[in-house]
Amino acid sequence: MVPFKSLSLFPLRGSHLVLYYHQVGEATAGFYPDAIESDELLRVVQGFQNLGFRFCSLNEAYQKAESSRELSISLTSDDGLASNHQIVLPIAQKLGIPLTLFMIGKCLDNRALAWNHKLIQIKRHCSEEQLEAALTKLGPRFQIGEEGALGQRLFSVTDSKKDALMDLLWELFCPETQNEYLKRTQPFLSKAQMRDLEDSGAEFALHSQSHADFSRLSYPQMLIELKQNGAHLADYIRQPAPFFAFPYGRECRLDLIPQLCRDLELKAALGLRFRICDNRQQHALWQRISLENVNALSLEQLLLRPVARLFRPRRLFSKFRLYSNNLADSIF
Ligand SMILES: [Zn+2]
Repeated sequence: MVPFKSLSLFPLRGSHLVLYYHQVGEATAGFYPDAIESDELLRVVQGFQNLGFRFCSLNEAYQKAESSRELSISLTSDDGLASNHQIVLPIAQKLGIPLTLFMIGKCLDNRALAWNHKLIQIKRHCSEEQLEAALTKLGPRFQIGEEGALGQRLFSVTDSKKDALMDLLWELFCPETQNEYLKRTQPFLSKAQMRDLEDSGAEFALHSQSHADFSRLSYPQMLIELKQNGAHLADYIRQPAPFFAFPYGRECRLDLIPQLCRDLELKAALGLRFRICDNRQQHALWQRISLENVNALSLEQLLLRPVARLFRPRRLFSKFRLYSNNLADSIF
């Protein structure tokens, strides 16, 4: 491994890094399998601070884009999981780091699960063969694709039918009702926890009402998803931050993003494919870096991957491209 200090940080000046994760710690790891450890999060955050990066809110970063050459970074989390209060808040307070939390409207205060959260639990109570057999049986009714891996087949189902499909599978395989499960495990932030986080300087932003796949929605459907998300969030906090993170990193048509931001008074929508040329202007699409699925979470890997992405053909042909490269195998 190349010693990190020997890598020049110069190319990152003028850009802004945005890190994201879902779950931290093991307490509710059963809810979300790709949790990162709290000591790893602490190590990464302190590592960036030691390299001279300053943690700031997304709002501040967006305001200063184009005018600052400092090394800056934000810490964000998706889906609004309770570990942000139990584990991340004490770390953030100790290190003086603002958080941005992207919240799913229907899941606020543990009122419901999104379809992909249901799937994680269903998979814990059945074998892959049982699930495949059930999908084959339900295939015609839900127009489930026959090709590809399980995740791809499930993404082929129309967004409006995904929840109904998961509810049927839940009844088939899970030992308790969804309400019983939510009451027992409380995986999402409660209203009191959200207040506490807000009072401590965290900002809350949009992640859609139902955790929808925006690459498959019509423009009016996107507006409904985000307006409902904003309205529900306003019931819990004082002022949502003007940002939206695409669920699963699945972006809508790139030419629709500026209009979407204008119509909803958002500053930017955020994807999951950061390259070092991104986040340098007040652009409608910003990109983030995942802290998950990184072997022995290292700063070298986190910063070298965005450089490597530059050499893939995406950017060269972006002028002619209507759809972005999506993360087809992610269900989060
Ligand atoms: Zn999400």
